[in-house]
Amino acid sequence: MIIGSGPAGYTAAIYAARANLSPVLIEGPQLGGQLTTTTEVENFPGYPDGVEPFTMMDDMRRQAERFGTQFVSGIVTKVDFSVSPKKVVVEDEQEFEADAVIVATGASAKYLGLESERTYRGRGVSACATCDGFFYRKKTVAVVGGGDTACEEANYLAGLCEKVYMIVRKPYLRASEIMQQRVLNNPKIEVLFEHNTIQLTGEGKVQGADLIYRKGEADEEQRHIEIDGFFLAIGHHPNTEIFKDYLHRDAEGYILVDGDSPRTNVPGVFAAGDCADPHYRQAIVAAGSGAKAAIEADKYIKSL
Ligand code: NDP
Repeated sequence: MIIGSGPAGYTAAIYAARANLSPVLIEGPQLGGQLTTTTEVENFPGYPDGVEPFTMMDDMRRQAERFGTQFVSGIVTKVDFSVSPKKVVVEDEQEFEADAVIVATGASAKYLGLESERTYRGRGVSACATCDGFFYRKKTVAVVGGGDTACEEANYLAGLCEKVYMIVRKPYLRASEIMQQRVLNNPKIEVLFEHNTIQLTGEGKVQGADLIYRKGEADEEQRHIEIDGFFLAIGHHPNTEIFKDYLHRDAEGYILVDGDSPRTNVPGVFAAGDCADPHYRQAIVAAGSGAKAAIEADKYIKSL
């Protein structure tokens, strides 16, 4: 049983199917995983001209299907890893049993935790520029964050919008050099360093944001910007809550694995991809760990 349909899940399925392990893959809430929320994949080997994420994920899915993977659409609502075979329940209805389980549930976008963020969710607040950017053509938007995701989203939105603010809490960007340059050289993007968002404002939808500049410093100042959209790009948290009674996790919820292997604390349960990777979080790394998990699952099943 493989839980998750990102690069880790599909790669695990390809390997498991080719090893005759009869894999069943539960697709989860976002078919194709997090990658499908980006614009273009330029750093996955084998695609010299870049590739649309949906195309790449569909390629992986078809490759897994070709060797006999079965797909189940739905979300896993319960597991029992204390029994053998292990139990996995989908949508509180379908119960599956598996000799080995590969957890490849990925991670989800973080929000700031503001009350107004909840109020305007879907009405100007988004965590996916590729999904929602289209609605803000020729408008003004803000992107929160200073990492690669934030830079990527800001650049993407700059292609559609009149103006893009980047709200960055530190005096520098954390993103890779090439992404930083793309942002800093884009005349449509204004980076607001050392700014934090206090609240969003507007009549029924986002129309502005109250920001604080250099919070706690002598020159602290409150500012207001007029925006139509507010995009979060401040990182992710792993989708591992459902496994908390069985699998050891770190303080942030990432599944702990045995050294360099995908083995968890439960024999026969393996973790692959971003749900167990707070460091690299790359599609190619996730795919590699999916392959490792399937190889380990094969070894485990043969040892039963
Ligand atoms: P990161 O963790 O790298 O960056 C998160 C950003 O959000 C940081 O600038 C952080 O600020 C800021 N932030 C976090 N919490 C808050 C908060 N409460 N208020 C304001 N700002 C906040 O996450 P990313 O999603 O950008 O990237 C994750 C990984 O994926 C990275 O390894 C990245 O390199 C990789 N990636 C690679 C891409 C590519 O190669 N094309 C594309 C996208 C991601 P601070 O710096 O102050 O902590």
